[in-house]
Amino acid sequence: MLVAVLGVGCGRQPRSVVRTEMHMGTLVSVRIDGLDYAAAQPHLDAAFAAIRAVDERFSNYKPDSELSRLNAAAAEAPQPVSPEMAALLQRARHWGARSGGAFDCTVGPLMRAWGFFQREGRIPAPEELADARALTGWAHVTFDAEARTVAFDAAGVELDFGAIAKGLAVDDAIAALRARGVEHALVDASGNFAALGTPADRPVWRIGIRHPLRKDAIIADLEFQAGEGIATSGGYENYFEVDGTRYVHIIDPRTGRPVEGMLSTSVIAPNATDADALSTATFVLGVDRSLELIRGEPHTECLLVSGSPNDPASLEVHMTDGMRARTHLHLDEGP
Ligand code: AMP
Ligand code: MG
Repeated sequence: MLVAVLGVGCGRQPRSVVRTEMHMGTLVSVRIDGLDYAAAQPHLDAAFAAIRAVDERFSNYKPDSELSRLNAAAAEAPQPVSPEMAALLQRARHWGARSGGAFDCTVGPLMRAWGFFQREGRIPAPEELADARALTGWAHVTFDAEARTVAFDAAGVELDFGAIAKGLAVDDAIAALRARGVEHALVDASGNFAALGTPADRPVWRIGIRHPLRKDAIIADLEFQAGEGIATSGGYENYFEVDGTRYVHIIDPRTGRPVEGMLSTSVIAPNATDADALSTATFVLGVDRSLELIRGEPHTECLLVSGSPNDPASLEVHMTDGMRARTHLHLDEGP
């Protein structure tokens, strides 16, 4: 566990207390402004407890998570699920339908076939890919909302909430902080953000969007408020290369293959869960269909970076008008 304390003992300087921990395979940090170190600690504990609870329920790396147990058993008989599982399933299906199937939390078999689940990327043989595709799609999942049960129609069907659970963890952490009366906070789970109030020293939060082709550089910074979530999906997060071609961890369910042509997608939505789902959906949908989808959603904006990772000159940034109005691009700044 890493603990950073900023601004303590700086007289009239506003204070920030930041705690960073590893969860869901990534760094998660919670920042509280306006409280001193000791006062912030129980709030940070509560925020991380909320994050841990999401991970323990929705991880498909932890064999005893509710999701892993569901994946292991739902082909045999309908399995009762928690209200939290039912709610996330509904949200995931909603975005699946809205995105025309681009967002698809049944991609588990494809993630395995491409080796991402095992963290050893590989190109599957054509039969293996065909088998994984045959096990993908919501048609294999029966969700009985009344009885709150889930059943799969074949062994090997696998739900994967990797594209939405980090956003949920951020929303739950914010809810925990709000319930405790915290007024100024920012939660960041690997590029999935939500906030409470404002920073102690400024009227608005500013979030940096990572440059998809330059490590440690940002491509944009933008204004961000409480009551919103923002998420970025990036090809750089998890990928492998074979013969100069990059294979990224976001799969186009229509082809069963890693998405090509998108470098990163950032979406602002009314909460971090929806932002997370939509960042992944837009990554799959490409520029034109993403702009159309996002323009049709209330209080939702996007910044899309398309191009090839092998050709920096191919990089293009596309934004909705509302995003442009609050974003400062850093395109011409050196490497
Ligand atoms: P994110 O970083 O939020 O874009 O999520 C990426 C993760 O979502 C991947 O590591 C997979 O676990 C999962 N995933 C990959 N492709 C899709 C897809 N088309 N729809 C939903 N989830 C996906
Ligand atoms: Mg996502």
